[in-house]
Amino acid sequence: MKKPLKIGLDIHGVIDTFPLKFKLLSAALVNDGCEVHIVTGLRREASIDQLLLDAGIQFTHYFSIVTHLEDQGLVVDWREGLPYADEEKWNLAKSEYCTAQNIDFMFDDSPTYLGTFSEIDTTYLHVINPDRKVYVTR
Ligand SMILES: [Mg+2]
Repeated sequence: MKKPLKIGLDIHGVIDTFPLKFKLLSAALVNDGCEVHIVTGLRREASIDQLLLDAGIQFTHYFSIVTHLEDQGLVVDWREGLPYADEEKWNLAKSEYCTAQNIDFMFDDSPTYLGTFSEIDTTYLHVINPDRKVYVTR
């Protein structure tokens, strides 16, 4: 069986910012047999499922940095609704996941993760949102 094309999609600043574009893209990809991986900070919860459902996003896999770090026994601290953990491990988690899963293209708006993709096979597609001046990476 030939390897399916594998795509990673960030949620915040990507799916939630351009929901219609990613609805159409994700549907086309899944219908064509591609893998669509949600690759995000937050753990999968009802509110996230609802956001993806409302946006009409089709996906085949879900990866959460928070869940990944907690599974390794690391402490994730919540401050003002945002998760904080070991910064290096957090920042490397997406590129490590993409390497492990052989993701072909990762759509993400974060300049922080950009550098962590420079020496891996995954092509980082840096989504630029001109209205988003402050880059919140977690
Ligand atoms: Mg983002």
